Amino acid sequence: MESYKCDHCGKEWTRENRRGQKPLYCGVPCRKRAHRARDRALIHAARAAGLDAPRVNVAGGR
Ligand SMILES: [Zn+2]
Repeated sequence: MESYKCDHCGKEWTRENRRGQKPLYCGVPCRKRAHRARDRALIHAARAAGLDAPRVNVAGGR
């Protein structure tokens, strides 16, 4: 049994059988939101540095 904490919403949960890599997020929605937020942060940092925005898809949709 191992406990995890979601990197996005902070939700904690435990899992009996751990295989593969340790999950960072409690679910797919949190993972997607976290990645999107990270992409936004990258673009923001690039703009602040006077660079073109990196090519990442933050347009929403899918
Ligand atoms: Zn979460």
